[in-house]
Amino acid sequence: MTHLRTRAVHAGQQPDPTTGAIATPITQTTAFGYGTLERGAALFAGEVPGYRYSRFANPTVAALEAKLADLEGAQTAVAFASGTAATASLVLGLLRPGDELVFLGPLYGGTEGLLRNLGERWGIRVVDATATGLEASLTPATRMVWVETLTNPTLRLHDLADVAAMARARGITTVADNTFCTPCLVRPLECGIDLVMHSMTKYLGGHGDATGGIVAGADALVAPVRKTGLGQVGGNLAPQEAFLFLRGIKTLPLRMAAHCEGALAVARFLQQHPAVRVVHYPGLESHPQHALAQRQMQGGFGGMVAFELQRCERSAVAAVLNRLALFTQAVSLGDTDSLACHPASTTHSFVSQQARDAAGVTEGLVRLSVGIEHPDDLVADLAQALDGWAP
Ligand code: PLP
Repeated sequence: MTHLRTRAVHAGQQPDPTTGAIATPITQTTAFGYGTLERGAALFAGEVPGYRYSRFANPTVAALEAKLADLEGAQTAVAFASGTAATASLVLGLLRPGDELVFLGPLYGGTEGLLRNLGERWGIRVVDATATGLEASLTPATRMVWVETLTNPTLRLHDLADVAAMARARGITTVADNTFCTPCLVRPLECGIDLVMHSMTKYLGGHGDATGGIVAGADALVAPVRKTGLGQVGGNLAPQEAFLFLRGIKTLPLRMAAHCEGALAVARFLQQHPAVRVVHYPGLESHPQHALAQRQMQGGFGGMVAFELQRCERSAVAAVLNRLALFTQAVSLGDTDSLACHPASTTHSFVSQQARDAAGVTEGLVRLSVGIEHPDDLVADLAQALDGWAP
């Protein structure tokens, strides 16, 4: 199985050995009978493989973990109840008081808030290296570097190979949140990054109907994340949700191709519209990191597009957004359905003005999660919403 499209269908899954069921069954159980006291003791001692209790491991969840590990080119993976639970488990599992975590932003606001909150409570120094640069921010106490493969909402990139090389030379663990790109477009481990994480809630699930997170990488790094995040914090993914993610991932490469096609068409349309001041999309030649995007992203530039209107009063932005018919106004992203949001009044409304400025979140900024509808229909919807709107 060399092609990602084939692996997305088959990796981690095979017909059920007892019934032949092709869809991996939902193993809806809390505990697993171990038969004899001797086998129970061997299971708990880790001397024989097998399932004990679904907080530690569950067959439906294990199939999903194996599939995602395969797609990301990782030894192993561990799934969680949300992307946020995955982030918390990474920090709690791998860092200790006195350690430093350095991030290159802007990060998803929930991630930055969580890192800072956990950092304050657990004595971990959290450092934003976005303005100073990574090299200047690393100290002997730095244990972890955190990046996103595409940043929200203005869609900037970090050179993952550079980040990985700089950190590896100092023995620092690197984490890349690959939620926006998925392994279809970027595979951080191939760039030398140590651990990759996802909010599966977005593209991996793809249908806007399940919440989950996952961390993938080498056994030695993932094992403490699993132990802390599942065994001690109890952030395990439910088997029903794992089933939805297994089903979603089968069509991930097909969906990502449609997202990328639609987003490029939308970005090109917006770029030439007189009501639009600037479009942020890594696939446009005008994107400041288009060359890096061409090098680092494979097969497309993602499904997220952000743009700024010429007029940025809230009423003017509302006039456009409220006229959209195919794009639903909602946060989240990566669904089959197209979504639109105004970050300044929603996702970034609790963020300081300084942080908003740093992230490029102006009052006139609109973020689109381009779904898998036909690009012509999406462009027509945007055209009618912008139509007659005086810049
Ligand atoms: N990482 C990124 C890039 C996100 O966009 C999100 C959510 O929007 C998360 C992590 C958190 O994921 P979840 O909502 O599944 O906890």
